[in-house]
Amino acid sequence: MSDITEQIPAFLRESIAREYGGEAEKIFAGFVRRPVTLRANALKSSAEEVGEELFCAGISFERMPWYRDAFLLHGVREHDLWERALYTEGKIYLQSLSSMLPPLFLAPEAGENILDMTAAPGGKTTQLLALSGGKALITACEKDGARFERMKFNLLRQGAARVNAVKTDAFKLDDFLRFDKILLDAPCSGSGTYVAGESKGFSPQLAENCARVQKKLLQKGLKLLKKGGILLYSTCSVLKEENEEAVGFALSLGAKLLPLSPFEGLPLLKGMEGTLTVCPNEQFEGFFLAKLQK
Ligand code: SAM
Repeated sequence: MSDITEQIPAFLRESIAREYGGEAEKIFAGFVRRPVTLRANALKSSAEEVGEELFCAGISFERMPWYRDAFLLHGVREHDLWERALYTEGKIYLQSLSSMLPPLFLAPEAGENILDMTAAPGGKTTQLLALSGGKALITACEKDGARFERMKFNLLRQGAARVNAVKTDAFKLDDFLRFDKILLDAPCSGSGTYVAGESKGFSPQLAENCARVQKKLLQKGLKLLKKGGILLYSTCSVLKEENEEAVGFALSLGAKLLPLSPFEGLPLLKGMEGTLTVCPNEQFEGFFLAKLQK
């Protein structure tokens, strides 16, 4: 066993080895600390302005060819940015590259009625609004009180106060509501974001509980979609019971899987055709995405 593999909690290591066979080592090798990444917040700034300010501050960065607003920084930690005006004024949002993918694939448009079903702390909510040019009608739902307050703060700071933030359990949303698009960035085990050496607990019970809740949320989400509407399901897990199995359940309820086309350079694992499982590496966290239509 390699040094990294030895540090991974047994349940996670064994599940990944069983589910991914020959690809497991590639996943283990990706359980590393990644550089700081951020999104230029188009609601308050522009990629050009952010690039200029980073340059003037002497912070070296790379732009991502697949998304003009995505930046990867060199030689800084997140806390180095906390006092900078770019950060305090909401012109940037610290966000992992993988977590920028669900809003990109949901492709929100002006005037669409969109539900971000499990939304706090709101990074993807503000990205959805930014991608729609500030013109989508977004409802962001979050059940946890402290996380909801954090989301309200983030929405205000990011210039997204027009988002309809609702502190409630998504299961309590009125069944008569109908949305054009739904983002279900589901609560999950977080297995894709694991960094070797961390003492994070992973257990069969955790994965099972997550899988149970994810299926129920999917069922509720599909109920709240207009006919023909799109639900983007994502998790920051690589465990199949939270991903492919959840999608299989949605298909059994009559949803249709719309195939996602990856951009060049996205590190992928083999998985259910039409879905994307991002392999963790030195830039990306492990992540899963599926696009469903009612
Ligand atoms: N999309 C968020 C972002 O990018 O900032 C991250 C969402 S996080 C993966 C999942 C969130 O779902 C957590 O904040 C959790 O409290 C919330 N949650 C879990 N179950 C929920 C439910 N039944 N209704 C509403 N929110 C829920």
